[in-house]
Amino acid sequence: MSFDLVLFGGTGDLAWRKLMPALFQAFRHGTLPAGGRIIGVARDDLSDAQYRDLIRSRFDEVDLNKRPTPEEFERFAQLLHFLRLDLSKPADYERLKKLLEERQADTVVMYLATAPTLFTTVCEQLAAAGLNGANVRLVLEKPLGHDLASNREINEAVRKVLSEKQIFRIDHYLGKPAVQNLFAMRFGNALFEPVWRREHISNIQITIAEELGVEKRGAFYDQTGALRDMVQNHALQLLCALAMEPPINAHADAIRDEKLKVLRSLKRWTPEALDQHVVRGQYTAGTVDGKAVPGYREEPGVDPQSSTETFVALRTEIANWRWAGVPFYIRTGKRLAEREAHIEVNFREAPHAIFNAPAGATNRLVINLQPRDGVELHMLALGQENRRNGHTLAPVHLDLDFDKRFGSERVGAYERLLLDVIAGRLNLFVRSDEQEEAWRWVEPILEHWRNDARDPRSYAAGTWGPPAASAMIARDGFCWPEEC
Ligand code: NAP
Repeated sequence: MSFDLVLFGGTGDLAWRKLMPALFQAFRHGTLPAGGRIIGVARDDLSDAQYRDLIRSRFDEVDLNKRPTPEEFERFAQLLHFLRLDLSKPADYERLKKLLEERQADTVVMYLATAPTLFTTVCEQLAAAGLNGANVRLVLEKPLGHDLASNREINEAVRKVLSEKQIFRIDHYLGKPAVQNLFAMRFGNALFEPVWRREHISNIQITIAEELGVEKRGAFYDQTGALRDMVQNHALQLLCALAMEPPINAHADAIRDEKLKVLRSLKRWTPEALDQHVVRGQYTAGTVDGKAVPGYREEPGVDPQSSTETFVALRTEIANWRWAGVPFYIRTGKRLAEREAHIEVNFREAPHAIFNAPAGATNRLVINLQPRDGVELHMLALGQENRRNGHTLAPVHLDLDFDKRFGSERVGAYERLLLDVIAGRLNLFVRSDEQEEAWRWVEPILEHWRNDARDPRSYAAGTWGPPAASAMIARDGFCWPEEC
């Protein structure tokens, strides 16, 4: 099967940091279909040779184990081409058409790694140039809009020129091996299903914590904030994977139908109740990894009066038979104490105690997403204390480390997703109705904050966020893992 992958924004940060290394890994692993072309597109005037040199130099900045040897790069570089094109100029699309017609590839992937403000224009111009045939697949990167209205506008513009099965909306969390394993754990094993419900689970916590600040993206982040950047997409997709009903098969729409039902069942808080269930925070100066770092408002590109949240902790519920009354907590932020993403599934206490157990000790299933990737099952067993009285339980855990077990066979998120686009597999991509429903759910929170003159709650860089996040979960009688 021949393919052309057109990388709009082919000289940008996303292209060289994520997409080229992922394409190279697929090439190295022999999974990238042979005979493809990767065509970088931007306004720069570069020859193919200059583009190859640019990409070669950029590889010096990626992880050592993802860098090609000179021989590998020479072979990979044969796939790379460059086309100068200004996406806002209709006439320029004729050059793209000519280049694609030279080959008539079986599949043409158009990857929009450019600002979303260009998405509508690009779609219109691709259609005007007749570049929206049945062999075309369009990949859209986040952020797809900044609210429900702008998200719909993009979705409508895209759907006017392509059918839903040609549209691949990326949420790279879905490509992470750990997230795919969450689906495998739930729907490839019968073990957990009987206990995966309100009768046995007391609460579920999703943490996506970053140590980094806004880096060079201060101006972008200041218009975005943690709710739009992390919760509306990644965190809600994780919540869907945790809470959805078993799909009838592994086809994309069967999975997406079930995820949509979860989003539709999310409880919506009234404006009066919102402050109790949602905490917004912003970091001040502090210490991360022993290094002093500035506060958010001192970061380059950030408004010194900014009220943009760099941290969100929230509590929600899913109003259906399986989950009624079980709180789901989501917590994400920048400049937190650690870089880690994990999910804690906390089970209820044993209904009748015949042993002495440490206060609050219950069974927990921890799904580690990063930096480690695996599953831990925390149980209670008779440990050393048992010598004294024969009845005291101690926590122990089973630790399944997927990195150790599967090692180099693991496929990175962007590598998985790019291969799936080329193959036309939609399972790990987000449908427009899911995205719209997620926006519909976060919008009242954004609206509430817009009308709230108070500053976000501050937290020192290098901590776990504002104390209000701990108070929120403590009100239900629970705690975040590092506090329990
Ligand atoms: P970037 O570094 O600013 O790159 C933008 C690219 O688009 C450049 O190649 C630029 O090249 C090209 N471009 C801009 N205007 C153009 C035009 N009119 N015609 C043709 N090409 C044009 O941005 P980025 O960080 O790669 O991000 C791209 C998109 O992906 C953004 O929407 C971003 O939010 C999203 N995203 C980025 C990341 C990431 O890690 N960087 C992660 C997730 C999502 P010229 O200026 O030379 O034309």
